[in-house]
Amino acid sequence: MSKIDRQEILDVLDGYDREDITIATLGSHSSLHMFQGAKAEGFRTAVVCEKGREVPYKRFNVADEYIMVDKFSDIVTDEVQDKLRDLNSIVFPHGSFVAYAGLDNIETIFNVPMFGNRDILRWEAERDLERKLMTESGVRIPKKITNPSKIDGTVMVKFPGARGGRGYFVANSTEEFDQKIESMLERKWIEEKDIKNAHMEEYVLGCNYCIHYFFSGLKDEVELLGIDSRYESTIDGLVRVPARDQLDIGVNASYVVTGNHPVVLRESLLPQAFDIGDKITEGAKELVPPGFNGPFCMQTLVNDDLEIVVFEMSARSDGGTNTFMNGSAYSYLYYGEPLSMGRRMALEIKKGIADNRLEEIIT
Ligand code: ADP
Repeated sequence: MSKIDRQEILDVLDGYDREDITIATLGSHSSLHMFQGAKAEGFRTAVVCEKGREVPYKRFNVADEYIMVDKFSDIVTDEVQDKLRDLNSIVFPHGSFVAYAGLDNIETIFNVPMFGNRDILRWEAERDLERKLMTESGVRIPKKITNPSKIDGTVMVKFPGARGGRGYFVANSTEEFDQKIESMLERKWIEEKDIKNAHMEEYVLGCNYCIHYFFSGLKDEVELLGIDSRYESTIDGLVRVPARDQLDIGVNASYVVTGNHPVVLRESLLPQAFDIGDKITEGAKELVPPGFNGPFCMQTLVNDDLEIVVFEMSARSDGGTNTFMNGSAYSYLYYGEPLSMGRRMALEIKKGIADNRLEEIIT
């Protein structure tokens, strides 16, 4: 199927009443601050929600319209798309939106205007593209190990697709790699076919910082809006076990994200954080024009050489943005008031409308 023609999206946008825009997204992941921020900036909000998952949106009262569906993936059906267009909707993408709508559908059949560059979503989903973007941008990433028989240090082993870390493991030798593969197969966390796609990279011993940036296409500038750190089960639970018992219990430690907490980087690391944001946005402009547009996140580990190593990227709002629904230390510095990522997105849309430049930030 061919990609949606940009003109088709612009035609839909052309038919919209710009005084009466709705901000819409799937009710999951990081949608709460998107709805809250959109409402704070005077937009109507619409949640597309799987039956049974509407509780937070109702209880926190952040959505004006409910488009209820049997399953989240129904967001791409003609019926839901019609409803969204009838509401003059601009969709704010996030991780669950991409996962449930599906990349192919977003590229070929989802004909509703979206904030952001829909072409860049594939660059976070496919590991080789992601590495290409980061390498060509000059961002420091973990070194890749090509063959399990060549493991000669500590490596992190990953499998295709975003799995919230499920099935990932650490190995120090080829024998340990083989043992752990067996154990992951037994737990049914991976399948036989995953083995040949195992990705191995240098294990970076350090602290986790997920840096949330906002690229303003209207200002042509990157803002650093917040930072979070992940809470992962069972690796974070292990520290609550006495050291003697960790060896046994920790054999099958996993990295399933269960939550996030807000953090700040030591101040002397901020120049590096800005440098990474600038480099990756320049690289993205070259490789996937027009590059980033709106929120993106660099997931990093900082080692004791005070080097920020990027192990993963989100090319849209990342789940950790939930840590600053009421603003972060950094977003406060820019705006002098509590400002979430969602509100920053809404401000950009508002400015796009006011300056008659909405087309530039919509795909
Ligand atoms: P997913 O995209 O499936 O959520 P990630 O790539 O974010 O998985 O990895 C899950 C977790 O594994 C990270 O939060 C981090 O704690 C750890 N991790 C990932 N890559 C490395 C690495 N190269 N070195 C050390 N830890 C890593």
